[in-house]
Amino acid sequence: MTLTANQISARIDSWVRPHIRSLKPYASARDEFQGTAHVFLDANENPLGSATEKQVNRYPDPLQRAVKAQLAPIKGVRPEQIFLGNGSDEPIDLLFRCFCEPGKDVVMLVPPTYGMYQVSADINQVETIQVPLTLDYQLDLESMQDAMQAHVKGIFLCSPNNPTGNALSKEDMIEVLEMAPGWVVVDEAYIDFDPDNTMLGLLDDYPNLIVLQTFSKAWGMAGLRLGMAFAHPEIVQVLNKVKPPYNINAVTQEMALEALSQVDKKDEMVRQIIEERDRMALELSEWNAVDDIFPSQANFLLIKVPDAAKRYQELIEQSVVVRNRSKVLLCDNCLRITIGTKAENRQFLQTFAQILETPHNV
Ligand SMILES: *Cc1c(COP(=O)(O)O)cnc(C)c1O
Repeated sequence: MTLTANQISARIDSWVRPHIRSLKPYASARDEFQGTAHVFLDANENPLGSATEKQVNRYPDPLQRAVKAQLAPIKGVRPEQIFLGNGSDEPIDLLFRCFCEPGKDVVMLVPPTYGMYQVSADINQVETIQVPLTLDYQLDLESMQDAMQAHVKGIFLCSPNNPTGNALSKEDMIEVLEMAPGWVVVDEAYIDFDPDNTMLGLLDDYPNLIVLQTFSKAWGMAGLRLGMAFAHPEIVQVLNKVKPPYNINAVTQEMALEALSQVDKKDEMVRQIIEERDRMALELSEWNAVDDIFPSQANFLLIKVPDAAKRYQELIEQSVVVRNRSKVLLCDNCLRITIGTKAENRQFLQTFAQILETPHNV
């Protein structure tokens, strides 16, 4: 069923919490005047400069226009389909605050998945419905359909999924977009390691699709805190209305522009990490002491070993830290290992081989 622009508008509008719909947002100095001028005396800034080498005395663009203009062609979207946040955490939280009425709306989660969706739901006092993935970590469409209710305001999918590493089937995700009464987030934090599976190309077909990406993984900028949400312009407008006016600071905007002008640098790092990941997976697959290595489209491996919690502690004693996921649903005895540098990976393999008392040659 194809909806008209007006029908899409009405549908998105109906998701917005009433007090947000009627909210009069803060109008910053840079909102009220955006042109060029010689004299800016409108924002109580310090005209003399900064107490630091780097000059950051002026407020940044609240809508990050320069970054979005450079990002849009790289992602194949229009600037008005982009929201930038202080990490992915910010758009996740804003989705709850803008769209989910505590005690009334619910969101659907598909564990095992990224823990932040549940935390954000809890912070915002929004109930979650859990529909576990299948044993091969794909969507259980039938159970999702059975659990679907009119007040499921949002659904969070993650592909490639954290902590399992695999991509979800695109056809399945499209079915979810079709069956959902509200919006569907596809968190693509790891998409640079699996670019062919991005859902970005479906934005124009599915106004309820919200794609999250981040500068924290492939771009190597986790310390900066810059997350992206790609969605229908009217969803972006709602998020913009509620976000803190200057949520992306001037230094972050500057560094994002620098990064976006060097896409090949990111691509080269991705290539190296994938090469290391596949080498690690191959090596571990030859160890009898490792019960399972799950296929990964991301920058980490999920592996199953006997007594994972103990192995985790033993690794720590040898100064190697991995993520213990053994308490997570469907991840019994699993450890999540981020792909490091060649030297770090070698050290992990050596240490882990000792712990597992398994022969190892590299
Ligand atoms: C790492 C990660 C993120 C990134 O979060 P930021 O707040 O942007 O650093 C988002 N989603 C998933 C699933 C992740 O694993």
